[in-house]
Amino acid sequence: MPLEAQTEAPALIDRFGRRVDYVRLSVTDRCDFRCVYCMGEDVQFLPRPEILTLEELLAVGRAFVALGVRRIRVTGGEPLVRRDLPWLLERLARLPGLEELTLTTNGSQLERLAGPLAAAGVSRLNVSLDSLRPERFRALTRVGDLERVLAGLRAAQAAGFKRIRLNAVILQGRNEDEVVDLVAFARAEGFDLAFIEEMPLGEISSHARSETFHPSARIRADIARRYPLWPIAESTGGPARYYQMADSPIRVGFISPHSQNFCEQCNRVRVTAQGRLLLCLGQEHSADLRAVLRGQPGDDRALREAIVAAMALKPRGHDFDLANRPQILRFMNHTGG
Ligand code: SAM
Ligand code: SF4
Repeated sequence: MPLEAQTEAPALIDRFGRRVDYVRLSVTDRCDFRCVYCMGEDVQFLPRPEILTLEELLAVGRAFVALGVRRIRVTGGEPLVRRDLPWLLERLARLPGLEELTLTTNGSQLERLAGPLAAAGVSRLNVSLDSLRPERFRALTRVGDLERVLAGLRAAQAAGFKRIRLNAVILQGRNEDEVVDLVAFARAEGFDLAFIEEMPLGEISSHARSETFHPSARIRADIARRYPLWPIAESTGGPARYYQMADSPIRVGFISPHSQNFCEQCNRVRVTAQGRLLLCLGQEHSADLRAVLRGQPGDDRALREAIVAAMALKPRGHDFDLANRPQILRFMNHTGG
């Protein structure tokens, strides 16, 4: 074993014995949508110099993979609005030891980019889709065009992506009546589907989150009346709990940060577009990787040491509270969802 590898921690283990082998890497805070649960209408994006360059993002990915990370999910903001993203993806995908490079997108640019993403080595996609009704889709995203997203999904299928997962945030009074339609669409197209409870990240003006909260248990009950669901025993290591149907190969997942705490098995950390390493989605514990990247440019060892040291900051879990003002003032597009 080379000397350097011997002195390195073989894996990222936190104070609670959880192994971190999954990183969500945000490549931009910018977005071409303004989803009502994610950001305010008049959102201010970060000045460009604050955002990590593609080379810096690659250095971050390289450091994590050298520390035993096996999966990277590229996200944002909307990752596909980042110019020259395929340059980064190609290089991340080739990092020795990385088993899976995945990406979460709103689908608006997918018609143009599905082919380049597949060619770059992205293995799976999550595409957000909260409604199949054009007007409602526009209202939820404030500006989005449903037809473009559907064209993007078709392009992703044509590019050969398998197990595409749709993500739907369900809000009481906005789209909770579409749950069964979304399942029927996913079944017809062969997409997996995850329903996400809204999280109180950032203060928004469009609605009171306590009023729009719609628990996963109700979604599951609505689906089960039409399509009986069976829990899948195997765990994916992520926060989604998956179910299947007797007459379809697709999986239906539920991400329930409020009603079902998933922190005990948490295997992940996030890096914001500014290079802030966030140890928990629902807490502020963080380490400034950009300061290392820019203070000691090219020093991969310093970066790895900063990441290893940050593991001591990973808290036991989140503490979401819908009734009061959000404790987490950063928006999801800053967090890297
Ligand atoms: N722009 C891409 C997209 O929309 O898929 C990637 C980033 S987005 C922040 C990632 C996921 O977070 C999306 O599925 C989105 O619906 C979800 N999301 C955003 N804000 C949320 C919130 N406050 N609560 C729960 N999920 C949220
Ligand atoms: Fe943009 Fe995704 Fe946030 Fe919607 S959820 S505003 S698409 S970053």
